[in-house]
Amino acid sequence: FLKGKTAIVTGSTSGIGLAYARAFAAEGAAVVLNGFGDAEQIERLRAELAATSGAAALYDAADMTRPDDIAALVDRAVRETGSVDIAVNNAGIQHVAPIEDFPPDRMEAIIRINLLSAWYVARAAVPHMKAAGWGRIITTASAHSLVASPNKSAYVMAKHGIAGLTKTLALETAQHGVTVNCISPGYVWTPLVEAQIPDTMTARGLTRDQVMNDVLLAAQPTKEFVTPEQVAALALFLCRDEAKAITGANLSVDGGWTAA
Ligand code: NAD
Repeated sequence: FLKGKTAIVTGSTSGIGLAYARAFAAEGAAVVLNGFGDAEQIERLRAELAATSGAAALYDAADMTRPDDIAALVDRAVRETGSVDIAVNNAGIQHVAPIEDFPPDRMEAIIRINLLSAWYVARAAVPHMKAAGWGRIITTASAHSLVASPNKSAYVMAKHGIAGLTKTLALETAQHGVTVNCISPGYVWTPLVEAQIPDTMTARGLTRDQVMNDVLLAAQPTKEFVTPEQVAALALFLCRDEAKAITGANLSVDGGWTAA
């Protein structure tokens, strides 16, 4: 149902972003992949997406800390595929440390990548969406857009910011056929989660098993990790015409975490 449409997904070389890209391609959308990684592996993913969709699949190496890169990515998508209909802000990083030990450069990188990049993507994409009279902006927020955990000051600050940005943009685009929503997963089993286990072990003096069961899944009543595919399925639904009344929402996919 997305034939003829173009989806940009920031941070889509891995994890949840890759699951979004695959879900959009499976519905026939042209997809713009973005993120870091091994060049050969990224080219394999790009070719896989083009084969799945039967449409264009581009890779753009835009660094989400750089506003000029972001504007160029959106321009390129429009130039090479004809439009930008769906923009998914998904690139994200994490750093876990108590505030007194938190390196300022890590805090600033998290704010740039997890929060400011979404503002710059929207700033570049909204004019095209308004002109087309249709658009979908979706951001991967987090349960940490609604509640906090210790030692994640920068991440929680960025994700709460995403929730506010989502509401504001929804109001600005409400009469233009554009919806703006964020999806707030609990713990999803991806490289980002795996990578924070050692830091959490150090910060809290715990073993790997203790971090998995007593820290990560402690908050998730289902005691199961969310899957990237479950998150992508909701994004796909948000792109359907049936979802056009859903805007400005923060949709939890968190195994009951924020119900507690
Ligand atoms: P991941 O590490 O697997 O993927 C992150 C992606 O972002 C990668 O493609 C990486 O290359 C890209 N990226 C990082 N820095 C970038 C930069 N400067 N410019 C461009 N791309 C950059 O992580 P993930 O778990 O799939 O996370 C994706 C999003 O989901 C993040 O915003 C994260 O905060 C959010 N999230 C994840 C979880 C979880 O449990 N995994 C839960 C809630 C929210």
